[in-house]
Amino acid sequence: MSPRILYTTLLIGALAFAGGCTKSEPESSSAQVADAVQSKSPGDKQQAQAAPEPGVDYHSFANTDDFLVKHVDLDLEVHFDRKVIEGEAKLQLERLTDQKNPLVLDTRDLHIESVRAGHGSQLQPVKFTLGKTDPHLGTPLSIELPQNATTVAIRYSTSPDASGVQWLEPQQTAGGDFPFLFTQAQAIHARSFIPLQDSPKVRMTYNATIRTPPELRAVMSANNDPQAAKDGVYEFSMPQPIPSYLIALAVGDLDFKPMGERTGVYAEPELLDAAAAEFEDTESMLEATEKVYGPYRWDRYDLLILPPSFPFGGMENPRLSFITPTVIAGDKSLVALIAHELAHSWSGNLVTNASWRDLWLNEGFTTYLTNRIMQNIYGDERYRMEMALGYDDLEADLADREDRDEIMAIDLRGRDPDDVFSNIPYEKGSLFLYELEQKIGREAFDQFLLDYFNHFSFESITTEDFLAYLQQTLLQQYPQQLDEARIRQWIYEPGIPEGAPHPRSDAFTKLDPLRDQWLGGEIAAADIDTGDWTFHQWKYFLDGMPEKLSESQLRELDSAFGLTDSKNNEIAFSWLMIAVRNDYQPAFARLEDFLTSIGRNKFLRPLYRNLVDSGKQEMAVRIFEEAKAGYHPLTVKVNSRVIYGPDAS
Ligand SMILES: [Zn+2]
Repeated sequence: MSPRILYTTLLIGALAFAGGCTKSEPESSSAQVADAVQSKSPGDKQQAQAAPEPGVDYHSFANTDDFLVKHVDLDLEVHFDRKVIEGEAKLQLERLTDQKNPLVLDTRDLHIESVRAGHGSQLQPVKFTLGKTDPHLGTPLSIELPQNATTVAIRYSTSPDASGVQWLEPQQTAGGDFPFLFTQAQAIHARSFIPLQDSPKVRMTYNATIRTPPELRAVMSANNDPQAAKDGVYEFSMPQPIPSYLIALAVGDLDFKPMGERTGVYAEPELLDAAAAEFEDTESMLEATEKVYGPYRWDRYDLLILPPSFPFGGMENPRLSFITPTVIAGDKSLVALIAHELAHSWSGNLVTNASWRDLWLNEGFTTYLTNRIMQNIYGDERYRMEMALGYDDLEADLADREDRDEIMAIDLRGRDPDDVFSNIPYEKGSLFLYELEQKIGREAFDQFLLDYFNHFSFESITTEDFLAYLQQTLLQQYPQQLDEARIRQWIYEPGIPEGAPHPRSDAFTKLDPLRDQWLGGEIAAADIDTGDWTFHQWKYFLDGMPEKLSESQLRELDSAFGLTDSKNNEIAFSWLMIAVRNDYQPAFARLEDFLTSIGRNKFLRPLYRNLVDSGKQEMAVRIFEEAKAGYHPLTVKVNSRVIYGPDAS
C-alpha cells in the first residue's frame, strides 16, 4: 500500500492502521487491538512468552507443511443483483509429505456447495467439513483427499458481506449508470472470495474466466487485454507465482487509455483523461526504477482508478495497481502514491514477506524506493520533503504507541494482521535502509538492493532470511561501517536507535517563521507569498497550526487561501481538521460533502474521531448514517467503533 499520510500527533491518537497497501491508512482502534488479543491463533501456536517462530503464519489455517497450492483455475460469475460471486476454484497441489488427509484451506463466509478431488480431470466427490469460525481468521475448510490426489475443485459462492469484496450501486460511481465491484485481499481477505491457502508464504499462478453483465468489463491482477471485446466473458492468466493477497478483481464500466509503451489507465470514462494526465509520469518512473533495481518482471504496469469509496490510497496488485481517485489533484502533487505502488513490483510482489510479521520487508523497502523514485523524477527538493514528512509521521506514531508495536518484526499472534499497518513498517523500515545507504554509500547500497531483488525474486522471505543474507553480504563487505548489533536493534527493538538520520527540508523550516509571524499578528495571511508552495508545504503549514485558532483567524486564512474550496483532498483534509476542532461553521457544508463522497479511511477516521472528540457526536452520527451505505465494509466497521464506541460492530 501507499504514500504520505500527514497526521499531526493530535490526529494519530492511539491509531492502528489497516489493509490496502497505501501507507498507514487508518483502520482499527486500540480497543479493537485489545479485543483482538483475546483471540487465539490456529493450532495453539501461541505460547505465553516465547517469541513468534519465524516463518510460521499465525493467520492461516492452511497445513502448508503437507500441501502447497501451486496453481488456481477460477471460473466465476459475478451477480450484481444478489451481490454474490459464484463458481468454481480448482487448485493444483504439490504434496510435501506422505500424509494424505485432510487438506485444510482458509475460507471466510463462503458457502461451499461441493468438493471434488483426484488427478487431472478424473475428479470424484469428496467429503469436506467447515470448522469453527474464528473472528479474525475465518473458517477452516477440511477436505478428505483420495490417495495421491493433486487436484481439488471447489464449487462455492461468496457472502454479500464478504470482507474482501465491495459492491457499489451505480450512484456510487463517477458515471452513475452502472454498478461496480472491486476486491481487496490484503491482508487476509482473499479467503472471503476464494477458498485457498491464504498465506503470503504460498505462491501460486492463476488463470481465470470471469463472467459479468455484458456491458461491463472485468480486470484482474493478471494479463489484462485492453482490446478484449466487452462481451461479458473475460479470460485471464497470471503466469508469475504470486501470494494470494495479490489476487484481485474489479468489474465496472471501464475504459482504457495508454500512458506509455508498457503503462496505461483503466477507469470509468468520466475519470479516464484526468487520470491519464495526472499519472503521465508513470512510464518514466518505471524506466527509472528499472535502471537502478533491475528489469520490471511483470510485463505491463497499468493503473485502475477506483470509485471514491476505495478505503485505501492504493493497492499494489501486480500488473494493475488499484488507486484511489482522491489523488487526482490536477497538479501531480500526490503521485508519490503511484511511485509507491510501482515500487512494490520489486519490494513486496517480487520479494514478498513470508508472514505479516515481516511486513516491513514489503513496506519499508517500498517506502525507501518511493523516495528514490520521487527524487529521480521530481528532484532533490521533493525528495527531502517526502522524507521529512515521513519522519514526522514516524515520530508522531512513536509518541503514541506501545513498545511492542514499535518493533519492525512485530508480534501479531492473536491479533488481526490489519493492525500491522502503522507507520512503523513503512517509515522506520525506510529510515533503517536510509541509514545503511548513508553508511556505505548510495552506489554500494543500490548494488546491494539489486542483488537482493535478484537473489530472492519470486520468493517469500522472513526477517531472518533477510538478516542471514545481510550477514553474507554487507556485514562482511563493510565491517568498519556496519554493526550487526545495531541492525538487530533497528529490527527487534522499539523506537529509533540513537544517532539515526533525521531527514529535514529547508522548504518546510522556512515556513515556521511565517506561521509564527502570522499567529503573532505581524503579517496578514494575504501578504504571505504562497505562489510556489507545493501541497507538501501547505500540509506542513496547516498541520503546524496551534490547537485553537480564533474565529477571525479562521476567516482570514479561509478568505486568503480559499481553503474550504481546495480541490486538493490532502489540503482540504488538513483544513477540515482545523475547522472541526475550532467549530468553524462556514466549512461544515464542505465537511459533510467530503465525508459522504469519499471512503478513504485515511481521511474519514481522523475526521470522525475529531468530530466526536470536539463534542459533535450528533453531527458525526447523522453524517455517518447517511453515508455508510456507500462505504466499504471495512470503513463502516472502523468508523462505527470511532463514533459509537469499541463495542459497535
Ligand atoms: Zn505499500
